Amino acid sequence: PKILRWFDDKCGGSKRLAEQAKAVIPGGIQHNLAFNHPFALAISHAEGAHLTDVDGNRYIDFLQAGGPTLLGSNHPVIRQKVHALLDACGPVTGLLHEYEVKLAELVCKHMPGVDMLRLLGSGTEAVMGAVRLARTYTKKKWIIKIGGAYHGWSDQLVYGMRLPNTGRMEATGIPRGATGHTQECLPNDLEALRRKLQINRLRGGTAAVLLEPLGPESGTRPVHKNYNEQVRKLCDEFDTLLIFDEVVTGFRIGMGGAQSYFGVTPDITVLGKCLTGGYPMAGAIGGKRDIMMSLVGGIGTTSRRAFVGGTLTANPLSCVAGYYALQEAHRSNAAVVAGQAGDRLCRGLEEIIRRRRLPYVTYNMGSIVHLQTSGVLLLDTSSMWKLFKVRNEAKQRKHMMEEMGAAYTAHGLITLAGSRVYTSLADTDAVIDDALNRFDD
Ligand code: PLP
Repeated sequence: PKILRWFDDKCGGSKRLAEQAKAVIPGGIQHNLAFNHPFALAISHAEGAHLTDVDGNRYIDFLQAGGPTLLGSNHPVIRQKVHALLDACGPVTGLLHEYEVKLAELVCKHMPGVDMLRLLGSGTEAVMGAVRLARTYTKKKWIIKIGGAYHGWSDQLVYGMRLPNTGRMEATGIPRGATGHTQECLPNDLEALRRKLQINRLRGGTAAVLLEPLGPESGTRPVHKNYNEQVRKLCDEFDTLLIFDEVVTGFRIGMGGAQSYFGVTPDITVLGKCLTGGYPMAGAIGGKRDIMMSLVGGIGTTSRRAFVGGTLTANPLSCVAGYYALQEAHRSNAAVVAGQAGDRLCRGLEEIIRRRRLPYVTYNMGSIVHLQTSGVLLLDTSSMWKLFKVRNEAKQRKHMMEEMGAAYTAHGLITLAGSRVYTSLADTDAVIDDALNRFDD
């Protein structure tokens, strides 16, 4: 009640707008990560590590829009470059622009698995394109995704897929056939992956194994240290492509992504989020040259082509924002600095959890910090039943996490669903120490 009273007393402007929104927006919010308990917060200003709402309340921003703003919100260098670009040619022409090439060159320079880059509209679109590219290149049809990961909301890969035992889909409106050639395999279970690859070899072959290199949901279910390397070996053995979904990890773990960190080079890399520094149209497929050329096919010939597109893809605004966001990330060593902030936060949270004997566990991979109720994290996800239990527990705890999220907000902290934190270049020691005091409260 104390927390709810805080919202009523301090967030009148947000409350009014949230009510107004419900009349014209289903559920009153558009963004899946937008905080909505007890109602959505309306933000009027964003700068660096902080957000201010329409009522003048100031928050430490650990949502960072779901990850793209590694440099902090509304970074002045990117903003100025975008203004200059808009003055010169507006947001889109549909023709080639210098920054399209500059951005692609920069990504190719830093990402070991990227010889060529194709920009698309979002992470979802880029994963769809990557899968289509893999099928075209290999002439095989099966896709194995490593269980529980979110790869966007396309029919064939949508979150959750089929629940074990019941066969019921977590997301609806998707006919059985749409996921007919997608299989799910649990993280860390290399034997199960091998078995699937063996069976698929007898029935058309596996085009690709698709995974998030930190483990499903940015490491919410972490994978073992050598997991990526071993999946790489299996893919080579079965002549299957390895797709890394680096939508979250790309540039946030380092300029070379998680692939550099683990020293494992995928055949296809999917990028998004940090790629355009928080500006729209963040999505791209990168990969080895001969694979990427399957996006083109032979002009005037009948050779195979994986078709992708989009009216606003590779628009100059996204490209200029992306180019300067990545330049700036490189120059300022943003992944390392934000990672140190993540380490400091995680160590502080550990101390609070220990001192207050809370049923929580916290761990981080650089600037990606997880804060889970301890039952949700299960390192040993070696059976479907265990994963099922985890998902059910996670659902039961959702309300509790929502309440925790609201409590954090009332103490000036915006998190991702109360269970994840993204730090940024703007998170100085003073910001993190301020945040830790608030978490402790
Ligand atoms: N892949 C991963 C690992 C993601 O976390 C997300 C989004 O959070 C996506 C793909 C989809 O990206 P987008 O939201 O840009 O469609």
